[in-house]
Amino acid sequence: MNLSSVLEEIESDARQYIGRGMVADYIPALARVPADKFGMAVHTAKGQTFNVGDSAEAFSIQSISKVFSLMLAMRIADDERLWNRVGREPSGNAFNSLVQLEHEKGIPRNPFINAGAIVVIDALISVLDEAKDCFLDYARRLSGDSSIGFDEDVARSEYEHGYINFALANFMKAHDNIENSLDLVLDAYFHHCSLAMSCEQLARAFLPLANDGFSPVIADSVLTDRQSRQINSLMLTCGLYDAVGRFAYRVGLPAKSGVGGGIVAIVPNEMTIAVWAPELDENGNSVVGTRALELFAQITGRSIF
Ligand code: GLU
Repeated sequence: MNLSSVLEEIESDARQYIGRGMVADYIPALARVPADKFGMAVHTAKGQTFNVGDSAEAFSIQSISKVFSLMLAMRIADDERLWNRVGREPSGNAFNSLVQLEHEKGIPRNPFINAGAIVVIDALISVLDEAKDCFLDYARRLSGDSSIGFDEDVARSEYEHGYINFALANFMKAHDNIENSLDLVLDAYFHHCSLAMSCEQLARAFLPLANDGFSPVIADSVLTDRQSRQINSLMLTCGLYDAVGRFAYRVGLPAKSGVGGGIVAIVPNEMTIAVWAPELDENGNSVVGTRALELFAQITGRSIF
């Protein structure tokens, strides 16, 4: 199958969906992104790449960074302790829900909602001296690109408007589920979210999850094959906020989205797919990106089911 022409076909179909969503504006720095951007990149485990549209342009990866945080934490933090502090169930609620956290006494449902990622980052800070720098270095190594960086404007904008994230973190601190200072943890959290990467860089960085934990970029394993399967399972069940069931129905692949409009999907043992289109649906997932992945699955016949 010629994936270059598949991506071109997808771009022309998916672009028709531009105008049906809204660019995130609760983080003012994100609201400035043009709504008509579209990029898509595929990277195969065998080393081939296919790109279309704005696939080389960096955007704010937002919650997609939660996968990198978890990959690093599963590698270096105490596994049992980590999973005592954060669950592995779909949330069925908004990604920043306070109600659910209160109901569950400060133990977030999963590592891919905001509260869960804040706990994962707190666990990283407890074992790393310069956690923020280590995280950036990790993302750079995974993608084989040292030019990747935090977008300080986005990080600041999030800090200045991060009232709900502060509330989530305060609430967990009150329940003894945050070990470090809130300022340190939230500063790291906002920086992780602000990471700017392109579809091409994301598709490369996610290869370990399509490759039993082995990164062809680093030429080494960054996860065990079991950990890689576990993270894919979490992406399938928790990666698309409270629209995860609909996404699984439409696309049938493990994936993680972010409010910057990016989505990364995994075809286990075969390839990674990254797509970016900034307009979001009511759940915070890219409208055009979801359509593009749905078409990709249909045309190529790829699904984990
Ligand atoms: N930085 C965003 C927030 O904390 C992440 C949201 C997302 O991409 O889901 O609200």
